[in-house]
Parts: sequence; C-alpha cells; structure tokens
Amino acid sequence: MPTAPFKDPVFVSRPLLPSLDTLVPALSEIWEAKWLTNMGAKHIQLEQELKRELNASNISLFNNGTIALLAAIKSLSLSGEVITTPFTFAATPHSLTWQNIKPIFCDIDAETLTIDPKKIESLITGKTTGILGVHVYGNPCDVHAIDLIAKKYNLKVIYDAAHAFGTEINGQGIANFGDITMFSFHATKLFHSAEGGCLATKDQNLKYTIDLLKNFGIKNEEEVVSVGINGKLSEPHSAIGLLVLDLIASERSKRSRIKNKYKECLNDVPGISIFETKGTSKDSFQYLVAIVDEDRFGRSRNAVFEELRRHNVIARKYFFPLCSNFPIYKDFPSAHPTNLPVANLKSEQVLALPFYGELSLDSVEKICEIIKGTR
Ligand SMILES: *Cc1c(COP(=O)(O)O)cnc(C)c1O
Repeated sequence: MPTAPFKDPVFVSRPLLPSLDTLVPALSEIWEAKWLTNMGAKHIQLEQELKRELNASNISLFNNGTIALLAAIKSLSLSGEVITTPFTFAATPHSLTWQNIKPIFCDIDAETLTIDPKKIESLITGKTTGILGVHVYGNPCDVHAIDLIAKKYNLKVIYDAAHAFGTEINGQGIANFGDITMFSFHATKLFHSAEGGCLATKDQNLKYTIDLLKNFGIKNEEEVVSVGINGKLSEPHSAIGLLVLDLIASERSKRSRIKNKYKECLNDVPGISIFETKGTSKDSFQYLVAIVDEDRFGRSRNAVFEELRRHNVIARKYFFPLCSNFPIYKDFPSAHPTNLPVANLKSEQVLALPFYGELSLDSVEKICEIIKGTR
C-alpha cells in the first residue's frame, strides 16, 4: 500500500528553542544592565562556556560564521591562492573571493567527503598561502595529513567547522587542529544563537588580533590599528546561545536514537547508505545524510528527493550544486569537473533527511517507507 503524504511539511531541521520562561529572565538582566552589545556580560559568559564545551584554548564570538571566516582569513594575512573544497556551502569559497583571494578547488575523499590530502600538493603554487578545509557533516578532515603538508610548504590552515560542533578526535575537541577553526551558530545548526559564530585558536596573540578585527580594529579610544569589520555578537543573541547550550546534550541523545532508527529501516535497501563519520570519538549529529547509489538502487537521488517532496518531506541536496559549478567559479581551471570527479559524483548522490530531536520514530519509519517506495 502506498504511504500517505504527511499532513504538514517535514523539514530537514528545526531550531532548538529554549522555553520563553527561561529566555525572559535572561532578557530582563540585559534590560536591567542597559548593555545590548559590545562584549557585555552574556557575551563574556558564552565565550567561557564554549571554551569548556569545545575544549578550546581561546574563543572569539562573532555575529555569524561567515564574518568569522572572513576575519580568520584576514588575521592570518592570507593572499594569492588558498586550496579549498568545492563540496561545501557557498560561504567557504566566497569568504576567500570576497577578499580577492582565489579559491583553488581540490577534490574530496570518497569516504569522508572532506578535502583529499593526496590531491593537495599538486595544486600548490608560488602563490599558495593556505588551506581551507571543511569538516563535512561533522566528519573531520584528515587533520594530521593536512598538518604535514602545511608544515612542509609553510601554509596556514583554517577549518570550517560549521557542521562540527562537539566533534572530537581521540577525545580532543575539533577546535584544536589547524591555525583557526570556525563554527557557525546559525539557527539551522545543532548549537545556535539564532545567528552567530566563533573562531577558536590555540594562539593567544592571534585571538588578540581577531578580537581587534571583529571590532573595526579599535584598540582603544584613541587608536585604530587594523582594517576591522563589525563582527560583534549582541547580548540577546549571546543569551539565546547560553540557553541553547543547556539543551544540546539531550538533543544529541535524541538524534542518536533517530539515526539508529534510520539505519535500521534502510539497512536492507541496496544502494542506500547512511553517511557515517570516520575517526571520531564523539559526533556532532548535525546532519543525517543518505547516499543514493543510482546503479544499485535503481533510481537517482533526484527521484528520491521528488518522491519525498510529493509526500511533504522537504529533504535537502547538501551539497548540490557544487561550489565549483557556480557560474562565478566554473571557469577556474581547478573547477573543471574532470579535476573533481569524486565531488561531482557525490553531489549527485547525497540527500540530507529530516533530523531533529522532536522528529518521532514513527515519522522516521514513514520517511524510510517513502524512500523505499521510490523504486
Ligand atoms: C552554515 C555554514 C556556514 C555559514 O555560517 P553562517 O553562520 O550562516 O554565516 C559556512 N560553512 C558551512 C559549511 C556551513 O554549513
């Protein structure tokens, strides 16, 4: 019997919302202090708590992840060319292009979907100043291999960890690799502050440079020492972040159960697999991604996507289109599909499915029946 559509749309994610009973008192404190932004009490507290949560040496909060990434690139004085992945959100290559740095696209590894270190060295030229990797779906890049390449060629390393809040390798927080790691606190991320983000670095001096950059380069009332930007996170946003932080442990365990249910229901379907992280001791549980192998499943990822749509399930093709196929990048020599076979193939196979704590296990079963019914 065909599965009936869901009455209301089922989205890929839903934001974690602290109860208004906890938010109103936090806002009252801000009103009382009459201090709405510029590194107030909530901002200071959130930086402290995130240091602990991410086991990071230094945290600098930002008003969103993209501005944080811009500031990271600026703080390391990157220029010329930076090697990055096409299998990411637009913000990753754009943050380079925005400051006249050319993104050089490198293919990804077929298992981890992160930048393939074996393909980085052949892309290095006299203009290369850095590597910008992305911990896709919370799966860490091969940080050790990338570290060796960076040391050999004297390159800086930045990681886009927008999906990797809480990811750990051998018990070590993901923020402890590379020169700087960026996290996004956008509403669609597991941990969020409606809008927001941060940079993590082990280097205290770099944290100082970053903090100047996020506040127009203002050192004190009489000295402006760098070309900064306005990257400050406000007090109301910081207050939301502090309250959401209390919710993520239970959200993670709910998502863990949901993931197991998806795996159980799709286990025996040839050509459909659930993406699994490799080499992590703790996962971010940011996305639940199905990989559709058209040859084995018999239908394409797009067919599954359309079938879900017909049943009011709004899955997302993360990451499609590939950044290297955007009109603005497609004519770069490194963007040619023959240089990026794995990324091009995977972007036709991936499908992010609904994944949030409040999603019932019955709904998961139904979503899986719809997927199976595509055949
Ligand atoms: C969400 C996201 C960003 C951008 O973060 P914002 O906080 O929305 O600016 C950057 N990179 C990746 C991979 C993302 O998923």
